[in-house]
This record gives sequence, C-alpha cells and structure tokens, in this order.
Amino acid sequence: MFEKILIANRGEIACRVMRTAQRMGIQCVAVYSDADANAMHVKMADEAWHLGGAAARDSYLKGDLILEIAKKSGAQAIHPGYGFLSENAEFADLCEQNGIVFIGPHAASIRAMGSKAGAKEIMGPAGVPLVKGYHGDDQSLATLQKAADDIGYPVLIKAVSGGGGKGMRQVFSSDEFAENLKSCQREAKASFNDERVLVEKYLTKPRHVEIQVFADTHGHAVYLFERDCSVQRRHQKIIEEAPAPLMKSEIRQKMGEAAVRAAKAVNYVGAGTCEFLLDEDGSFYFMEMNTRLQVEHPVTEMITGQDLVEWQLRVAAGEHLPLKQEQLRINGHAFEARIYAEDPDNNFLPSTGTLHHLRQPQIGAHVRVDTGVEQGDTVSIHYDPMIAKLIVWDESREKALARLRAALAEYEIVGLTHNIRFLHSLASHPEFIKGNVDTGFIKKHEQALF
Ligand code: ADP
Repeated sequence: MFEKILIANRGEIACRVMRTAQRMGIQCVAVYSDADANAMHVKMADEAWHLGGAAARDSYLKGDLILEIAKKSGAQAIHPGYGFLSENAEFADLCEQNGIVFIGPHAASIRAMGSKAGAKEIMGPAGVPLVKGYHGDDQSLATLQKAADDIGYPVLIKAVSGGGGKGMRQVFSSDEFAENLKSCQREAKASFNDERVLVEKYLTKPRHVEIQVFADTHGHAVYLFERDCSVQRRHQKIIEEAPAPLMKSEIRQKMGEAAVRAAKAVNYVGAGTCEFLLDEDGSFYFMEMNTRLQVEHPVTEMITGQDLVEWQLRVAAGEHLPLKQEQLRINGHAFEARIYAEDPDNNFLPSTGTLHHLRQPQIGAHVRVDTGVEQGDTVSIHYDPMIAKLIVWDESREKALARLRAALAEYEIVGLTHNIRFLHSLASHPEFIKGNVDTGFIKKHEQALF
C-alpha cells in the first residue's frame, strides 16, 4: 500500500478521500488555492501545498504544478476526486510518465469514454445496448437531418464532448431540427471546443439508472449494483438513491453485466459508472461511462457496506478486488440529498456567503454528512456551490425516506440561501414516496415543490 498520496481536489471529496486514506495509515498531501488557505481539507491533511489563485485554472487545474508537488512531497500516487483533473487523459498520462500512480483508469480508457460518440462506437460491438441513433463522422446538416428523420421524433442532439448536462437539445419535429442543431453546435463549440454532435431517440419518460463498476489490474471486474438518479433539474442530479425503486432483479443483473462488459471493452481499471436510461418497458440503453468516483457514490457504500475509496486505493496499488461478484449483496436502502448554496425561488441561482450558523443532523451509523465546510467558512463564487451531501440508510425505502426527511428537518444553515426546504418538499412528495420517478419529475411537479 502507498505510504503517501496527494489529493488533487478540494471540498467534501478531498476530505472524503482523506478520511479513508488516513484510516488506512496513508499520509495525505493537500493542495489549495488562495481561496482555500483555511479550508477543511487543508486542516485535515498531513501537509498542504499552495497552488495559486482562486480560479480553478490558476490552482486545481494546474496539472504540471500538482505533479511537481507530488514529487517534491514524496507522494506515490494522486487521487483526483471528481471534476477538475479527474477525467483528463493528458494528466493521467503525465502522472504515469513521471512514475506517479494516477488513482483512476488508464489514459486510454478515459479517452475512449471521453467522447460520447466514440464510446458508442465501442459499446455497440461489446454487446451493450444503445438507444437508436446516429454517431458518425459526417456532420453535415443533410446527414444529421436525415438521421433524425429516420430515428423519428422526438430526438435529442448531444455534443459529442458534452458533460454536466450542457450541449443538449430536444427536437420535436423535422422543421425545428436545423435551428436546434445550430444552437447546439454553437454551445458545444463554446463549452467544449468541439462542435461535433450525435443524434439519438429522445425517450420521454426514462429513469436515469447507473451501475457502479470496479475493475482491477488482474482482469477482474464486478458491479456494485445501481443508483437511481432520476430526480434531476436541467440534467443535474438532486436526490439519488440505491437500489433503484421497483427494480426487478433480472433487469439489475442484465444491466450490471452490460456495465461489466463496457468496462472490459476499454480495459478499465478502478471505479467507474455506466449510466443507462431505463425505459418504462424495462429496456435500457447505455448513455455514457464516467471514469471517476461519482458524487453519489456514498449511497452504494451504504447498501453494500463497502468503502469505495478503499477499493480505489487497493486497486491502484495493484491489489486484487476485495470481493467477488457473488460476495456482494444489497442491504437496505440509501438516499443522498445534495445540499446546495442556491436559491430555489430564484431559478436556483448560486448563492454565496458565510456560514454564520451551521448545525448538521445527528451523525450516526445511519446518517452521514460528507462536507468540506464548517461553521464560519465562506462559500465563494469560485467553485461548485455544494455545501454538503446528506446520506441516510435504513432497512426499507420507506424508512430511509422518513429518515431523510427527519435529517433535513434537523439541518440548520444561517448566512446564505440554500435548498433544504426544496429537498424536504421533494422527499415529501407523494409520487416520490411511491418511487414513481423519471427524469421529468421536477418539471412535472414544479407547482407542488416550491
Ligand atoms: P451529461 O454528460 O451532460 O451528463 P448525459 O448523456 O449523461 O449527459 O445525459 C444527461 C441526462 O440527460 C440524463 O441523465 C437524462 O436525464 C437525459 N438524457 C440523455 N439522453 C437522453 C435520451 N436519449 N432521452 C431522454 N433523456 C436523455
């Protein structure tokens, strides 16, 4: 096992990674920007190195500098967390060339999955189901329009290099296609410097169900079941749960096996997530694979009793996967609610300010709060405005949901606008309680939620 690692991230995920690494007796090196000099992740670390200005490009995105610090500090590996450099193939390459272990998959796997079109190119032949669509090189209006007409409306135009819900357009009829294509390409060019798009059938009431996969360097891969992340706003997840409500075990197994095939097709190593759309009739389609630890990984930890960061560290150090598929079991039900500094009454505008008063719910075996801030800290404009993740477990979905509502009611935050009341009304909605969710849930029930 490593003696020392560097965590190339900030906030809750940097703290989350350190908690496990330190428990395993591994020394942790933090890095920080000007804005984070007094941040929790800096205080928690065994040593901390300054990167630069507050903006991510001056700090957490400076791969060269981070690598240099890793070498100077004697860290043997780098954990990238999520966001920032976590899915940057050049950085993964650079680590390898410098003899530092990148705690994640090989650069080639990141590249293969980095393009939504390229990934589909590999997944089809690997036997992973794809939604009907076009993901070819010919990007002329005529070809794309014809593809859309053949698929049948509604269709979704997606930026090949898109992410974070950006670069997508729904099109409901042929005569609206050209203008939507143009605006999607413009956004794709501006956001991802790549205007290529793909076109696929737009499913009207799908659920977003994703499979946690894990692979080691010895050719083994397993799945740690699913998470349902259907409750989204503008394609951003809000409340996640595991297992998915009303999931048939036969579909779970098929989806899990498809995800393992997907991982094997790109020689995957480490933690990864295959995102699928699950249609009402039980068919499911591969959307993309995220080649990192996900924000919502704790719900999987709660129902499997496994520590996924520990798995990551063991696999990165060359060990075998801790468990075989048949040793993995689902126990109970877990929810995660993302506590954000944002204003639900004002179009979810991010808010900033000082956490003058912060009282978290009582933490226990069944209630967990993953956070990177404490009372007195400031939430700034520089980074993602997530304050914390509230994670709860219980033996049934109904009980876990009651626990989530109780924990949300206990939460006290004074000093900035937050979304706790909104999360509470989500968790109290009769249709959510029934597990009757799809990706259109928030839009459909907007009236009742605010
Ligand atoms: P991103 O990389 O930006 O997260 P994804 O491809 O993962 O983009 O899609 C994000 C969300 O968009 C999904 O969770 C789902 O809600 C919706 N979505 C994507 N593809 C489709 C589709 N073909 N039909 C309906 N909804 C879709």
